[in-house]
Amino acid sequence: MRHGDDRRRYGLRFAALSGLVLASAFQVGPAAGQDLRIEHVTVVSPESPRAVPDVNVTVHDGRIAALVPAAKDASARRLGTPPIDGRGLYLVPGLIDSHVHLGGIPGMTDEQERAHPDFAQAARAQIPRSYLYFGFTTLIDLLSTPEEMARWKTHDPVPDTYFCGGAALIDGYPMNYLPKPQRYARMPYLLVEPQGAAPLPPGVDPVAHSPQAVVARMKSDGAICVKTFFERGFGGVHDLPVPKPETVRALVQAAHAAGLPVLLHANSAEAQTFGLDTGVDILAHGLWNADETAAPGELTPSVKSILDRVVATQVGWQPTLQVLHGLEDLFNRGFLADPVLARVLPRNLIDWYGTPEGRWFRDTLAADLPAADPGAALRRGLAVPIGRAAAATGYLAKRGARLLFGTDTPSAPTYANPPGLNAWLEIHRWIDAGVTPEQIFAAATLGNARALRLDREIGTVEVGKRANLLLLRADPRQTVQAYAEIVEVILGGRALDAAALAANR
Ligand SMILES: [Zn+2]
Repeated sequence: MRHGDDRRRYGLRFAALSGLVLASAFQVGPAAGQDLRIEHVTVVSPESPRAVPDVNVTVHDGRIAALVPAAKDASARRLGTPPIDGRGLYLVPGLIDSHVHLGGIPGMTDEQERAHPDFAQAARAQIPRSYLYFGFTTLIDLLSTPEEMARWKTHDPVPDTYFCGGAALIDGYPMNYLPKPQRYARMPYLLVEPQGAAPLPPGVDPVAHSPQAVVARMKSDGAICVKTFFERGFGGVHDLPVPKPETVRALVQAAHAAGLPVLLHANSAEAQTFGLDTGVDILAHGLWNADETAAPGELTPSVKSILDRVVATQVGWQPTLQVLHGLEDLFNRGFLADPVLARVLPRNLIDWYGTPEGRWFRDTLAADLPAADPGAALRRGLAVPIGRAAAATGYLAKRGARLLFGTDTPSAPTYANPPGLNAWLEIHRWIDAGVTPEQIFAAATLGNARALRLDREIGTVEVGKRANLLLLRADPRQTVQAYAEIVEVILGGRALDAAALAANR
């Protein structure tokens, strides 16, 4: 219901930069208070049906203070920093990736990081810049803690970052990957169900791990969302415990009472149906696993019936198409040599990925594949899931589903989901799946902002919003090439030369 209302508002708020008419009312006075000005720029904002040319933009204290038609701007030529000449450029909201994992370095275990402090530190310093380099001024880490967020935010510059608490069922996915007993300390928001099968480990109090208690703790820790999981396993694991519907319904109820949306890790027909039945807000992942007998790209009637419910309920849907392509890229010899990778990660880290030590995750996958050509075997195995996820994304895009741009970077301890670059690749996967540049632009800006309840702060170019903005050479509603060579990334009113954010300059 709430989602339906949002969609109608989308239409009604087309007035958008009609704010221009009123803008003089919002202008800030003294020149001394102005910290950024962009003149004669074309504004492209997702709530407005048309680009607005020749606008003067004033940013004050990190927020958009005024948007004025240049011809009517009486405030020009003030003291202070010279304005940015926006002629020929497009000003758009900074992009939002609603699915990242920022705790580690892609492809490196904690032990490996300790063994290679030199380039590990350089990588940690570069990763936030790489997200910014590709235009991502806001990130949502779907599985984090206040401690990890504090560490991430020591970097400068660093995208605005928010986090969800991970409400995993005890010993279920993804806790199963952490050794016991550390997993209980590493997952402070784990869920315990009444009458669970196994005895509880020492120190885990069921009262502190009810849906209500977990949501209350996340909320007071500063989380803006709840992430939960329905995953029986993959890659040889297939009997992980999954939550009961009543557990996730209680989690959704508690989260909504606290103002937090709920995301469900769900990549199978069973899991997405579970998410639709329990009323979660966002399904994280494309529909990879369903009718195993389908041909690549075929949407069977049972899959279509799930997708039709996705459209009808307006549940948020993150295709995360690049995840499986990233697995294939582990077996692509050209991947580490691609010069674009050197724009987002330090050269010595890339070199290390090519060593036997750095290839550990690739080799772990290869161990379960025919030795003669593991890459070809993997591609054969992934052809149906990849084809289904792409076809489902195109099907949903044509029917006005609520697609949300999230990359799941990195989706595994893999080097083939690099920060920032992974989003650029994901954008192209969406194009290939039949999503329009305009839909991608909306999904990565206002769509994500609304779904994560951040739309009062970010997601559009409007007076009062945080000045997270991009200056582009093309209109991103016309072409995604607009994101290729960003001119300036503006983060909280601070203009960053995009080229200077790249690695290995
Ligand atoms: Zn994820």
